[in-house]
Amino acid sequence: MKMSEKSKYNFKCLEQKCTTRACHTRPHVYVTLGDLGRWTAQGYLMNILPGMSLTLPESGEDPMSLETARKPLEGAVESTCCIFFNEKANGCEIRYSRPISCRTYPLEYNGEKYYLSSKDCPGVGQGEVSKEVLQEARDLAEQEFRERTETDAALPAVYSVIMAELIRQSAEAMKKRSEEEKKETGEDSSQGPKDHPSPSDSETHD
Ligand code: SF4
Repeated sequence: MKMSEKSKYNFKCLEQKCTTRACHTRPHVYVTLGDLGRWTAQGYLMNILPGMSLTLPESGEDPMSLETARKPLEGAVESTCCIFFNEKANGCEIRYSRPISCRTYPLEYNGEKYYLSSKDCPGVGQGEVSKEVLQEARDLAEQEFRERTETDAALPAVYSVIMAELIRQSAEAMKKRSEEEKKETGEDSSQGPKDHPSPSDSETHD
């Protein structure tokens, strides 16, 4: 659904009274590098990090994406929801630190226009949105677009740097281990080649 400059965006989240929780069951809850930075500043990164999932491209054209992990939705075996959705409480477990894509939901910006990303959110059309609140919602949607674009561009490079570092550390650990093993077996290369008896040395000659 497109929104022109003149259209009115009325929205009020129904919170615990919401029956669809479409924001938690949408297929992807994207996370940006900006979210990681905010969680670091808040001191929550290590608590939230286990709920993150890095999706690697299956083909060259697929993007790499950072999103929240998924879990099965109770009572709807085929469906999944965001790992942070607490079904019993019908709420988000990280509500006050939720990703920017959740804070702007269901309003999105695609670089040219604002649009609604979901028709299933029953909060759309509810309440009155003042001009100031509408401007705030649009600013947030634009920020989410910028962060998402930057994250899409930077993620493969960040991943490569981390993988290269892990490979370097692993090679170093292997080298150290093999040197320790050589020392244990008396084959320390730093001490120069040792004379090993050749099979013929042990032979007795007439
Ligand atoms: S689907 Fe819409 S109304 Fe329901 S909890 Fe999410 S944002 Fe709020």
